[in-house]
Amino acid sequence: MSVQTLFTNFSLLEPTFGEIRGGYQLLVEDDKIRELSDKPIKAKDAVRVDCGKRTLMPGLIDSHVHAIHSEVNIRFMENLPLTLVAARAATRLTAMLNRGFTTVRDTGGADWGIKTAIETGHIVGPRLFIAGQSIGPTGGHSDSRRRTSSGDECMCCNGLQFKSAVADGVDEVRKVAREQMRQGADHVKIMMSGGVASPYDPLDSLQFSDGEVKAAVEEATAFGRYVCAHAYSAKAIIRAAKFGVRTIEHGNLIDDTAAKLMAQKDMFLVANLVTYYAMKERAAKWGMTAESLEKNEIVLQGGLKSLEICKRHGVPVAYGSDLLGELHWDQSNEFTIRQAVMSPIEIIRSATLIGADVLRMPGKVGTLKAGAFADLIVVDGNPLKNLALLVDQGKHLSAIMKGGKFHKNRLN
Ligand SMILES: [Zn+2]
Repeated sequence: MSVQTLFTNFSLLEPTFGEIRGGYQLLVEDDKIRELSDKPIKAKDAVRVDCGKRTLMPGLIDSHVHAIHSEVNIRFMENLPLTLVAARAATRLTAMLNRGFTTVRDTGGADWGIKTAIETGHIVGPRLFIAGQSIGPTGGHSDSRRRTSSGDECMCCNGLQFKSAVADGVDEVRKVAREQMRQGADHVKIMMSGGVASPYDPLDSLQFSDGEVKAAVEEATAFGRYVCAHAYSAKAIIRAAKFGVRTIEHGNLIDDTAAKLMAQKDMFLVANLVTYYAMKERAAKWGMTAESLEKNEIVLQGGLKSLEICKRHGVPVAYGSDLLGELHWDQSNEFTIRQAVMSPIEIIRSATLIGADVLRMPGKVGTLKAGAFADLIVVDGNPLKNLALLVDQGKHLSAIMKGGKFHKNRLN
């Protein structure tokens, strides 16, 4: 027999509408939304939930997380046994759900084991979409070896094994991309420019050859997946766009030409400004190197400007956080940081509708319309007036439901 829950007495924040509306009711049946109506819904067997005039909105989507990366200096993952890596990932994922994120997209690290653990109830966390290991060339953002290490390191018993794979040459990229998809990857993550957390690759370095990028895109497409690329500079973004990459991760140093091309190719930017602010503030304390902190300064400057450029050219920007280690507690601060250049509804859409498009799940997540998964949150106030209600580790959320089941419910 199906189980029904009827939500009443709420202000509706459906992101497709774009404004708060009163007088609605919402019926959940099993794990889906059965009906959203501005007339009373007949459902005599449903459990009724009176929201006390609070705001009902879809569960949030973070399109760039690293569930596994529980160290700020990723190199330190080598000191972690796999058991501890999994346990820490569980803590991080539960904290995300507590903050109202009912769906997250991992862009390197989380594997099908963690994903299965959530799906089978062994880990309490959001819906998880995974990349498996991110893929990059020798000496690039994915290469976490010390300079004193030559050749391959044995990572079979430590946390570094989840992080990334190094591949050189078209055939190797093909093989490693295929391997990620064999391991259940929902998207293939490649590194196309230098990074912050990797000390030795210059930020403006261009990573992977044309042929290597094309091979990754070809394999992902053939398997029904897509490629997301780590890229900061306009040059790297333009290369990614030319070769069929679908989403740009970070993109802080984008320019008008690159944004124009992204719009033409129906690409998405997944921005994650919060991580740069958090790293500036606290990463040194957690062992981030001076080289990395120096690079952080450069991309931090580009953050807000990148959002403005994308807006100008109609590039959809999804909500990302990308927080490493103990900085993960700042995940919801992206909402308030973006206010400097975006309106509240634009920011909420980035964490709902646009996130759903990135995941190729429009109508399934990020909305309260009939047929979507019953992923929702009840907020103590109006987030369109005060986005800070989404901050503070879920303190202002009276209810969180994922797939029709309450993760939290302090209503009636
Ligand atoms: Zn990342």
